[in-house]
Amino acid sequence: MRLANSMELTAFDGQRFWFDPGALCLEFLLTGGEGELARWERLHRPDDLADWISRSRAGITGPCAVTADELAAARRLRAAVQRLAVRAAAGSRAFPEADLAALRTAAAPSPALPPAPFLVPGLERAWASPVTGSQFVSAVARDAIELFGGPHLDRVRMCAGEECYLLFFDASRPATRRWCSMERCGNRSKLRTRRDRAPYPRATAPE
Ligand SMILES: [Zn+2]
Repeated sequence: MRLANSMELTAFDGQRFWFDPGALCLEFLLTGGEGELARWERLHRPDDLADWISRSRAGITGPCAVTADELAAARRLRAAVQRLAVRAAAGSRAFPEADLAALRTAAAPSPALPPAPFLVPGLERAWASPVTGSQFVSAVARDAIELFGGPHLDRVRMCAGEECYLLFFDASRPATRRWCSMERCGNRSKLRTRRDRAPYPRATAPE
């Protein structure tokens, strides 16, 4: 079932499911990463980032212009957010200074102002265009600063599914979310409990 702000992912075994990472900066992690995550890389060229921006929960519509330098900055920021989120999900509060500095640099108000929204008649939101890669990087960094510096750091979690490494912010009222998706890891856990089945191959990848 498609929920607002979810992205469709495909698991190793071909199952497609909807995943809501709960925050823009965590959603951005679905585009790939460094090391082992490099095999999921989706941002090869500047246009890949421009395309992703327009499909992200940032809600940005209209043209995006991304340079090669901006793509590199976005990937650096993504690696920092990944490391911070993994630590937060493990209950650690010891965040590497280099990663915090990466957030600070990326969020810096000048020249990387976040995308500028405005209202058009009919009260729809539009964006001063083109939205640049630097503006988007700044928006992701500010989102990460709010998340990691906010009062609900304990809601940054890694899916409890075996060998599922998806990170999300638990925005549920009771704060009891354990799974990337009930369709995926939630159901598989239920099945396993019920039938004591061997687990499926488990890692998941962005579509
Ligand atoms: Zn999962």
